[in-house]
Formats: sequence, structure tokens, C-alpha cells
Amino acid sequence: MSRVEPIGRTTTRILLDAVGFALCQALVAQEPNPRFDNSAVDGYAVGHASDALVGSRLKVAGIAAAGGNGLNSILVGEARRIFTGAQVPHGTYGIIMQEDVLADGETIALQHTIREGEHIRRIGADFGAGDELLPTGTSIEAGSSALLAFAGASLVEVYDALNISVITTGDELVDPSELPAGSQIRDTNGVMLINQVLGSVRANLKSLRLKDDRALMIRALLEESATQDVIIVAGGASVGDRDYLRPCMDELGQVHIHGVSIRPGKPFLFGTIGDCLVFGLPGNPASAYVCFEAFVRDALRKLAGWQTPTTKWVRVKLGFDHQAIGREDFVRVSYVDGVVHRCSEQGSFGLISVARADGLARLPADLDLRQGDDCLVLWLRR
Ligand code: AMP
Ligand code: MG
Repeated sequence: MSRVEPIGRTTTRILLDAVGFALCQALVAQEPNPRFDNSAVDGYAVGHASDALVGSRLKVAGIAAAGGNGLNSILVGEARRIFTGAQVPHGTYGIIMQEDVLADGETIALQHTIREGEHIRRIGADFGAGDELLPTGTSIEAGSSALLAFAGASLVEVYDALNISVITTGDELVDPSELPAGSQIRDTNGVMLINQVLGSVRANLKSLRLKDDRALMIRALLEESATQDVIIVAGGASVGDRDYLRPCMDELGQVHIHGVSIRPGKPFLFGTIGDCLVFGLPGNPASAYVCFEAFVRDALRKLAGWQTPTTKWVRVKLGFDHQAIGREDFVRVSYVDGVVHRCSEQGSFGLISVARADGLARLPADLDLRQGDDCLVLWLRR
């Protein structure tokens, strides 16, 4: 999976609808921030060191407000009324907050001495012209979008949305809108995986539900791989007689990984058909969920051009004993005050733990842990 490279396609998005996309070129500042020296407070600007002393009584002459001008220098014995964000007059010595003066309407008396440059936000204090603000591959979020807006990038060049198909398989599956009869069950993986994808990258999504049928699987893999960047198949990924993903992948493409030493999620499969990545997840909902978090989410983000690792691991205290099982154990845990607790049912069919987990504690295959030991948790909440 470390070999996954960004897709080649790029596109132009309006900034307001670019969150979740990754920049396909670096953002370089054309101008400094702040763009000009300006006031950090509402108060009074003084022009000369000799006027900046505690007790000075100064005549208030003129107003400098945000968006206004008023740049002419302040005369000796005078102060300029100034508001937050206003460009400071030429040669301003410093600014005093309005709370720190006694004002009578025409004059002010300083309650303390003003330091040189006090309350002035200097041009370029944040960054200068020519600085790289956001490297290629930065995913656009609220904070980075503010930088793009500062730079006037109302249109941004980004890697394109991924084309992804989510396929659930199983004769037993019915749509969530239907009433299951007999041994049927509602398809819970479809919507879950769609939401996991949507929480990862910007994507054009297709979803399909297939019966357990080799011919249907072959056709779906062929058709979807012709147009999609990624196919995610849930169910039928194991080695049972009615698990068709592996034999179909052997026929149509290449299997790179089949079977991983984790619980839940052992039957996980990764393969390719041409340039299309195929992820095969076990059908049990908790297994599918864990495999997506452990293997798919970061791969999608890499494919979508994201440069920074996005899976967040935190080190916290274990709130229970763990007995090693010879496979890495991904335990759905809830987090309270620095300690993680095991969510109720940990069976791979368990849904409550999937819904409630704050994280997945990754517990070692061959080492028992005691309550109070440190453990690594894949953090699920933003
Ligand atoms: P499989 O991986 O196809 O052997 O399925 C393993 C278990 O997961 C079986 O109990 C299936 O009924 C169940 N399962 C498979 N797909 C889904 C799905 N989309 N939604 C809910 N349960 C599923
Ligand atoms: Mg099945």
C-alpha cells in the first residue's frame, strides 16, 4: 500500500467547494501577512517616545479605522484614535489600549508608559512574500482555506475526486428499506462503508449489491474496474466455497495481499485490476469497519493526493487486561480521561461497539498487557 501514488487527474474547484480535496501545487505567498503594520487593539497611537510616558496628557487628533486611511504622521503632543486592524500612521511609536487611558473627549492621560512598537502587528509577522504557505498535497480544511482566501485563490487546482464503487455481496442481504424475511439480514456494510469513504476523501460514489454468484462478481469487477479508481468489496472475501472475490481477482487481475494477521479482519484482500485498486473486506460489519480504518482510509487519501499521514495514533492507558491471541487485536474502545475501555460486544458481528468506539486499540499479537499499561489507539474521532 506504500506504493499507492496520487491519481494523475487534476481539476479546478471553487474555493468554497474545495474542502477535502488536496492541492496539486504548492501555495506560495504573493504578499506578506499582515499586509501592512496595523493596530492590534482599540486605543490611541502616539508618534513619539517623549509622548509615550506614563502621565502624558495628549490631544486626540484624528481617527484611524480599519479600512480607512489616516496615515499622516502623529504630531508631538498628540495621539490618534485608532481601532483594531487600522493601518498605523507613519512613524507610529506605539499604541495604548483605550482601557489604559483617562479620556475626557478631547485629551487622554496615559496610565502607563507605552513600549516601542507596542500593540502594532508588523507587516510580515506571520509570513512574507515568497514563503511557501501550503505544500503540494495539503488537504484543504477550514484553516488552510483561510490561507487560500488570503492569497486570493478563489479557484484552486486540486487532485480530482476519486471514482469509487462500494460492492456488498451476499444472498442474505436486503436493502435497509426492506423487511428481512427468514434468514435475510439488512445490508449494514453498504452505508457504513460509503460513510467511511465520504469521511476520508472527496469521491464520486457508486454502490452495488450482488448475490453470491461468480458470474455476477466477474461482471461487476470488469465493469467497475473500467471506470473506477477503487473498488471496495465487502463480503465474499474469505476462502469459503461461496466467497468469489479471490478466484475472480485471480482471473481478472492480481492479488497482492490476501489474509492479514489481525482480529477482526483476517480475510482482508488487496489487489489490482489494471490501475484500479480493489479492497476486499470481510462481510462481518466490525471486520469491514476495522479493515477500512486500518488499510483503506490512508490508501484512499494517498490516491487522492494527500501528502500527510492522516491516521492518528494516540498513546493512552489501557483500562482492561489483554491476553495475546497470536494476532494483533484491534479492540473497539471508548475513551474517558486518558483511559480506554473495551466497548461491549467485540464479536465481529457486533454493531454497538462499531457505533460507539472512539478508537481502535491496537494490541500486540504476542504480549499480554495489564490494565494501566500504555497502548496505541487508532483515533476515530476528529
Ligand atoms: P462473508 O464475509 O460474506 O462470509 O460474511 C460474513 C458475515 O457477515 C455473514 O454473517 C454475513 O451475513 C455478514 N455480512 C456480509 N455482508 C454483510 C453486509 N453487507 N451487511 C451486514 N452483514 C453482512
Ligand atoms: Mg457472504
